[in-house]
Amino acid sequence: MSTAPTYNTLRAWLDRLAATDRVAVCRDGVDLKFDIAAISKRLDGERATVFPKAGGHHGSVVSGIVSSRAWMAEILGVEEDQLLAHFQQAADNPTPWQETDNAPVQEVVHRDVDIAKILPVPIHNEHDGGQYISAGLLISRDPDSGVQNVSINRLQLQGGNRLGVLILPRHTWTFYDRAESKGEPLQIAIVVGADPISLLASQAIVPLGNDELEIAGSLQGRALPVAKCLTNDVRVPAEAEIVLEGRVLPHVREEEGPFGEFPQYYGQPAKRHVIEIDAITHRPNPLFHTIVGGALEHLILGQIPRESTLLAHLKRSFPNVVDVHLPRGGTCRYSMVVKLDQKQEGEAKNVILGSFAGHNDIKHVVIVDTDVNIYDPVEVEWAVVTRTQADRDYVVISGALGSKLDPSTEDGVTAKIGIDATKPLTASGLDFKRIHVPGEDTIDPEDYIDNSAIADFRQSLKV
Ligand code: MN
Repeated sequence: MSTAPTYNTLRAWLDRLAATDRVAVCRDGVDLKFDIAAISKRLDGERATVFPKAGGHHGSVVSGIVSSRAWMAEILGVEEDQLLAHFQQAADNPTPWQETDNAPVQEVVHRDVDIAKILPVPIHNEHDGGQYISAGLLISRDPDSGVQNVSINRLQLQGGNRLGVLILPRHTWTFYDRAESKGEPLQIAIVVGADPISLLASQAIVPLGNDELEIAGSLQGRALPVAKCLTNDVRVPAEAEIVLEGRVLPHVREEEGPFGEFPQYYGQPAKRHVIEIDAITHRPNPLFHTIVGGALEHLILGQIPRESTLLAHLKRSFPNVVDVHLPRGGTCRYSMVVKLDQKQEGEAKNVILGSFAGHNDIKHVVIVDTDVNIYDPVEVEWAVVTRTQADRDYVVISGALGSKLDPSTEDGVTAKIGIDATKPLTASGLDFKRIHVPGEDTIDPEDYIDNSAIADFRQSLKV
């Protein structure tokens, strides 16, 4: 474990970004409709954005707070190449949270709730169905065991205290089913302006019954301070910016959507679950975090936990797997590159099959040798083009389950392709050997360049 500082609140991380020229603070009162998303998108990956008094509200909107793996490594206090191992270590060794009565997030309380009047909730894309809370941690409580689950779900303002919510069939769905079967609402809280570590931890692919806030605690190196909600039994991070306390209603489904999602397409409207909010609490002058669909922070928050989990999954069956990457071109979800230190002919094909079993979303997988940089899409394409024959090295599986947000699928049913781009183990001598110039990685051209020569270029060449 490293002793470098970690950034355990949104404000602490924004201070760090501001001190290192990575924040753009806009003028007061930027329009909630499109302008916030447009500006954030233009500065995506370069600077976080802050919009004071957005739409005339008291609080501020922030976006783009974790737009690179390097930033995430800095937040966690590790080197970038240690990100996956560090995350997996925390996921395997969760730290129970610690309840506190002293919660900054409960300093201001609204019990008469009109969400759009209290919070600056933006509209992002031209065809979005309305204002959306896109960076809210949805914390739910198992009605049977009291164990909590954390997920990020898109939340559409439906007027007054109501929200439409997309709940995919995973853990929150299971808790909801248990409540609804008794005719009861599911107690939930929505946390906006959570610290970046809790945002990342919320995306861990861990079994039902594992509380993602305990992974956040391990990543922060402390028991995460949480507070009990004022109107229900859910525990929320005490140092967050905003909490909406409420209930997912039983036996109610209303139209939700469309909304611009991470694959750069709209999630289609349909009848979905409905939440009623009973109270909103927040810090004074709260920061409302919004994630623009498909922006780097959207991709990276899902990418690192998935890579970590998929690497651990593959290593269990295939110890020669060295590393995995979910590249941006594959929406950091659908395509995967695996680095394999292949020892047996045919091993790569087995790794392809294991990869599809790792997560439903995996649709394209490429297996490469250890001499290929899996983080460079040019190198991966080079390996595919120069080390494969399509009739020999491509594996196609028809009619498998993929992502329902992939528009090319039939409601999620998809073909999967695996490409074995490893060179043959029998390659010897100069077969498949990458060319290399001695010194190309270590030489410093500045030691050789004569800057005075450029002043009279022709003269220096005597031509
Ligand atoms: Mn979960």
